[in-house]
Amino acid sequence: MKIFNRGLFALMLGGPVLMTQPANAHVCDFSDVRMERLKDNFYVISGGGGNIGVSAGEDGVFLIDDQTAPLTPEILALIGEVNDGPIRFVLNTHLHGDHTGGNENLGREGAVILAHDNVRTRLIEREVSAGALPVLTFNDQVSIHINGIEARAVHVENAHTDGDSIIYFKGANVVHVGDIMFNTCFPFIDTNSGGSFKGLIPAIEGVLAKIDEETIVIPGHGPVTDKAGLETYLDMLVTIGGRVRSLKSSGKTLEEVLAANPAAEFDEVWSWSFINGERFVTTLYNTMEDWAEAP
Ligand SMILES: [Zn+2]
Repeated sequence: MKIFNRGLFALMLGGPVLMTQPANAHVCDFSDVRMERLKDNFYVISGGGGNIGVSAGEDGVFLIDDQTAPLTPEILALIGEVNDGPIRFVLNTHLHGDHTGGNENLGREGAVILAHDNVRTRLIEREVSAGALPVLTFNDQVSIHINGIEARAVHVENAHTDGDSIIYFKGANVVHVGDIMFNTCFPFIDTNSGGSFKGLIPAIEGVLAKIDEETIVIPGHGPVTDKAGLETYLDMLVTIGGRVRSLKSSGKTLEEVLAANPAAEFDEVWSWSFINGERFVTTLYNTMEDWAEAP
């Protein structure tokens, strides 16, 4: 199944999904669902929505996110190739439909759906069906002990949304950072759902402080990466943010800032169908009062 970029846009905003083939697919565009083994009993399922982290072992299966509802059978078939246990838990990194769309299907299969309190609150606001709501919520941190590891979900405030969680698989040296990272793609900051560039930067710095060179980093979108990849992403954000800040502080209008093209050298690699350099710079410009005083 191919979902055009407008499908991603619609999913993030809760609208209907348009399915067509992208002309020039970027690594963050939706594509066929595929599963890849990362290490031991850890896998990543990518393609049809946000990247799914999979721990599949003797206790069954624990998923980080679940893409979209129509993909559940495909996702279950892929997992079934490596583990015949039940889906025990699904932890949503945040509310967006390309990360939570499978909740109702998996809940019906018996999985316990977990997320930060604000994920449940915002999904209720969006009037999703009751079966799609997280049933176990937390305000700060929660740990799941399964398959011989501890998965610690830590809430970060006002980054991609106001309900983001970072999941550290202790001992396994794997972290799923959700949509605080779009790897090699300009990020979407959902300011209508409490997201903020002000919170995004310290959220990333907080992850960098806790991981090492060997850590496997699963981003919400784009290829699985490592600490160096996350540092490259942070450098891009800080560089463009600094330029937008100095241009706007000197009195430039949005049109003048866009003409100066503060994302110039990043555009070729990081622009994708949903967020190009111009859109990212526009978000930074329009929200600068919120973040410009941040350290
Ligand atoms: Zn998202």
